[in-house]
Amino acid sequence: MKYLFGPVNSRRLGLSMGIDLLTTKTCNFDCIYCEVGGTTIHTCERKEYTPTAEILAEIDELLSNEDLAKPIDVYTITAMGEPTLHTGIGEIIRHIKEKTGKPVAVLTNGGLLHRQDVRRELQAADIVIPSLDSARAASFRKIDRPAQCVDLEEIITGLALFCREFSGQVWLEVMLVKNINDQPRDIEALQQAIRRINPDRVQLNTVVRPPLESFAAPLSQEDLTHLAGQLPGKVEIIASFAKREHDSWRSPEAAEILEMLQRRPCTASDISEALNFEPSQTKRLMEELADQGQVLKMLHQGKTYYQPPHPH
Ligand code: SF4
Repeated sequence: MKYLFGPVNSRRLGLSMGIDLLTTKTCNFDCIYCEVGGTTIHTCERKEYTPTAEILAEIDELLSNEDLAKPIDVYTITAMGEPTLHTGIGEIIRHIKEKTGKPVAVLTNGGLLHRQDVRRELQAADIVIPSLDSARAASFRKIDRPAQCVDLEEIITGLALFCREFSGQVWLEVMLVKNINDQPRDIEALQQAIRRINPDRVQLNTVVRPPLESFAAPLSQEDLTHLAGQLPGKVEIIASFAKREHDSWRSPEAAEILEMLQRRPCTASDISEALNFEPSQTKRLMEELADQGQVLKMLHQGKTYYQPPHPH
């Protein structure tokens, strides 16, 4: 499968089948904490970067296998980059809803929500998870490194409009990076922006996975809790996996693991959680793959992450 990945146990959504609309890193941002590598195509231009028909065909192929499709809790539209840059996104969401009736979630950086066409195309989704890392221009530029065509004020206005128009859930994610967007004036600007946007939830995250730039450092749990208390609305911290009940571990499969690592570096326990693989066997297999040179090991914040030898 070229566009579908999973199902994986998502931190927020349950058993999620991911649909990746872009195959080359294409984004209007180039965030310092990005897990999928540096931005190759830095743009605000919307187009059909990958054939919509091919994506729909993969979805139909999955749905023809009832054993695979039935347990899926949610379909999550994401991308190696920003999925709303893809002009087929509305059709893809509607197709999944019509064929499965299951919830569709969209992960977006929110940078195109000022556009009416993008807001309209997302209407068929059930959950939209946009980001807003900073409401101050200087910090926003430092953390998200937007393309020239991006305007922070437009983003905040677009988010507020979207929240008013959308009948599903909007969970606003804020990624906090130490000494970049966690200062008192950043938090004050965020407070005002969140009041304007009025999302259903605010989800605070920090750099728990290996970031693109090594200077992107995480906040402590204590700092996150403190800042969560300063933001308005329903605020939650999403910096770790929600535990699921594992009644049937699977034996780990190298091919599935290598495919997952193409998307982002993971620890053995991330892999085990996401793919429902038995933890100790997974750990052993990861060591074997590292010994054979099929994956590279790297240390980040005291944890061992695995990645392909030639990450994109
Ligand atoms: S918006 Fe997402 S995909 Fe784009 S650079 Fe930032 S983290 Fe990476």
